[in-house]
Amino acid sequence: MAALPIRVYPDPALRKRCRPVGRVDAALRELAGGMVETLHSAPGVGLAAPQVGEEVRLIVVDLSLGQDPGQLRVLVNPEPLSAEGEQMEEEGCLSLPGVHEKVRRSMRVRVRALNLQGEEILLDGEGPLARVLEHEMDHLDGKLLLDHLTRAKRDLLKRRLKKRGRAAAPWFV
Ligand SMILES: [Zn+2]
Repeated sequence: MAALPIRVYPDPALRKRCRPVGRVDAALRELAGGMVETLHSAPGVGLAAPQVGEEVRLIVVDLSLGQDPGQLRVLVNPEPLSAEGEQMEEEGCLSLPGVHEKVRRSMRVRVRALNLQGEEILLDGEGPLARVLEHEMDHLDGKLLLDHLTRAKRDLLKRRLKKRGRAAAPWFV
């Protein structure tokens, strides 16, 4: 599958609470494959299904930007089991072009999910991996990194993003 178009703020798909995946089947594996391709061609370190307009609980994460197949994680119905510690680092989002802001995240997270074989797996993330996992799981609840900022900062960035969206629109139709 070729890379999919990435939804950009204020696309309403980014604000939906996604439904759990009922069955891991061929259609879901195909979507996951398309998301991996999209992630690698962006390039980015994480992508959630609503960012390609699919309102299901599916995320892909690869801190190696496609350089190390061992780092690619595809997580179906991911849910945090525990979170510890704190980190404050700059973060961006493929759906918020040009936005880079410091966001507080957990230092360590343990996530339970299904893999593409439908088996339950546990994933422990620390540092950057914990950050990406929390960022992508936020997307499944319609939450964006903007929501972690102060109101003043958030309003400023929203105005900027909407202006940019209007200016860019003719090139995307
Ligand atoms: Zn994002």
